[in-house]
Amino acid sequence: MRILIAEDDATISAGLTRALRDAGYVTDHVSTGTAADSAVASQSFDLVILDIGLPSMDGLHVLRRMRERKDATPVLILTALDGIDDRVQGLNRGADDYLVKPFSLRELEARIRALLRRTTGQSQLIVTHGRLHFDANARTAYAGDKVIELSVREFGLLEIFLTRKGRVISKSVIIDLLFEWGEEVSANAVEVYIHRLRKKVEVAGVHIRTIRGVGYCLDPAIE
Ligand code: CA
Repeated sequence: MRILIAEDDATISAGLTRALRDAGYVTDHVSTGTAADSAVASQSFDLVILDIGLPSMDGLHVLRRMRERKDATPVLILTALDGIDDRVQGLNRGADDYLVKPFSLRELEARIRALLRRTTGQSQLIVTHGRLHFDANARTAYAGDKVIELSVREFGLLEIFLTRKGRVISKSVIIDLLFEWGEEVSANAVEVYIHRLRKKVEVAGVHIRTIRGVGYCLDPAIE
């Protein structure tokens, strides 16, 4: 899961980045509204944490432009304690949730998990696909009752497929969701990860199909 943090306060953004990485998310950070605007317009994220008070373009404006582009990426807005108008406006403009500063990182993580569950259509943190059991919270996958040993990246890749069942996912979307900015990634690297993941999950009846020239798709589960 890849999260964009748009926050100009260096202390808050550093804390957010650390907490979310520890929780297993891929994160990117921008500190101005225009940078946030161009990031969400050009890349895929699973969630955006958007401060309202950003320099160069405020968070509400970024949000409005996203929704005008029909970008439905979930957005969690961060507002000041006295920013009741901001909250109302944010929700009216299509924010999915909000947090008032100062907030606890534990609460933020809980909100993020709830949002991602809601928007990916998963009612539970444990997803079953054939004989595969995927526990997003414990960051563990099982084939039946046996643990499948997955690297952080392989786990992230499997999560991308399980949260987009039946959809074709292009290599560039996978690169966006799995890697941070500045990481050197080739299309070949994606093929290598897919290859490794396939070998590890096929025992659970999970098949990732290649759709030549387009991308990859998770096949219906084989029991
Ligand atoms: Ca701010």
